[in-house]
Amino acid sequence: MARPWLARTGQRGRLVTPALLLLATLAAFARMLSAEPGDPRRGAAVAFLLFAGLTALGLALSVRCPACRRLVVPRAVRAAPVTWPVALLGADRCPACGDPGPRDA
Ligand SMILES: [Zn+2]
Repeated sequence: MARPWLARTGQRGRLVTPALLLLATLAAFARMLSAEPGDPRRGAAVAFLLFAGLTALGLALSVRCPACRRLVVPRAVRAAPVTWPVALLGADRCPACGDPGPRDA
């Protein structure tokens, strides 16, 4: 079975940083939810918003098609708002232009 487009273009590793930022976002969210009554945990809320924004920005800028130079994550999210990670990780061609990318050796 041929490797997916993301792996063949050598860009799968570019999703590691956004994935780590997502974990930080979830940790900040959990800390925010654990606030005691009367304790606003403003720091946790700020951290949550900061990490959520960085995660979204990191994801949006992470993967670019080597053929058409377009950013493909925003396009993948628009095409499949819920299942886009699965669709992108398994795609056999660029979601933006359909370029098949380099072949496996
Ligand atoms: Zn493309």
